[in-house]
Amino acid sequence: MKKEPFVTYGQLKEIVKEYPTPFHLYDEKGIRANAKALKEAFSWNPGFREYFAVKATPNPFIINILKEYGCGCDCSSMTELMLADALHFSGEEIMFSSNATPASEYKFADEIGATINLDDFTHIDFLEKTIGHIPETISCRYNPGGVFKISNNIMDNPGDAKYGFTKEQLFEGFRVLKEKGAKRFGIHAFLASNTVTNEYYPTLAKTLFEIAVQLKAETGADIRFINLSGGIGIPYSPDQEPNDIRVIGEAVRKVYEETLVPAGMGDVAIYTELGRFMTGPYGCLVTTAIHEKHTHKEYIGCDACAVNLMRPAMYGAYHHITVMGKDNSVCDHKYDVTGSLCENNDKFAVDRMLPKIDVGDLLVIHDTGAHGFAMGYNYNGKLKSSEILLREDGSAKLIRRAETPRDYFATFDCFDILKDMKYDRA
Ligand SMILES: *Cc1c(COP(=O)(O)O)cnc(C)c1O
Repeated sequence: MKKEPFVTYGQLKEIVKEYPTPFHLYDEKGIRANAKALKEAFSWNPGFREYFAVKATPNPFIINILKEYGCGCDCSSMTELMLADALHFSGEEIMFSSNATPASEYKFADEIGATINLDDFTHIDFLEKTIGHIPETISCRYNPGGVFKISNNIMDNPGDAKYGFTKEQLFEGFRVLKEKGAKRFGIHAFLASNTVTNEYYPTLAKTLFEIAVQLKAETGADIRFINLSGGIGIPYSPDQEPNDIRVIGEAVRKVYEETLVPAGMGDVAIYTELGRFMTGPYGCLVTTAIHEKHTHKEYIGCDACAVNLMRPAMYGAYHHITVMGKDNSVCDHKYDVTGSLCENNDKFAVDRMLPKIDVGDLLVIHDTGAHGFAMGYNYNGKLKSSEILLREDGSAKLIRRAETPRDYFATFDCFDILKDMKYDRA
């Protein structure tokens, strides 16, 4: 499928007059339509709730849009919990799915009434010692080990993943938790990431529904929800077919009716913790080509770098690039599109065929709406960009300002570099 930016060249030329590149731009219209489609796809399940994985796009404006569609927050750190709390999500709208969890985070999660999803058997004791009791509603994360296959395709490798209880631990965990006073239970699993197939959720659901039936039979636990977590992917590359959330929702319904309903579990709520699927395609990184370099290869140097988008450097991830205003030009130039870090993996694209790029051209790097800005770091002292929302009426709203040197140096309490006003510049 041809990948088109959600913003026009005309709109973008206006936006960059007010906000300098680089920045992440988000598509309010796309986020809304997608959130609505997810809600409708699972409307057959009365308790359904999407807990948006805050780590994907921890921006209050974006999270508040999702809140309008009934989404809660999936958090896995102190500041993510704080963000959800500050946005007035109630306890039951917050899922705390963390691992190697510090005591302070369990304490805070309990204080705000978040649902705690335990990552490990030993955390039962750790949690009880930390907060003085076991919450009445509790969830456990399951890891079946081995490889996760759909048909004969290996999707991911849970046996190598640090997360979750083994099957035996899950059964023992439910018994222990029940003895210690837990009354309502949930089961969670995240077995494959960025799946671009409609079969991931239904396959996972079958595994979890079957285990839920067994857990109920063997431990007598009152299972209230099954959390399919994240993992529904997006087509980063033009040759991938997007998932169809309606088809996914219906296929999960079928498994639910075949597995849970006959076991008298037709009131179990389905939860999801999608991140990438909710915002990934509805964000892009906008950057300006500021240099061209002709050596052993052809390079285009941008004003954005891996600090703004780490996925290509970290995983060799593909992100499609559109050279704005050159839609109809042939892709007859082979470029490495780079940032300015002193790291040779700071490349948004390697050997990519693109139209001829001139200095000053605006490049749109697609699908950065999830795990894009959020993964940013400060290597080379590079500062994080702004985030801008393209509203439904076509206007632009700044939803996070760019970092300044003052922000970067703010933690040097012991060395007051900021006395000097000459550092107050972009
Ligand atoms: C990262 C994460 C998610 C979201 O994953 P996506 O691939 O963005 O859908 C959900 N739940 C947990 C516990 C996670 O760590």
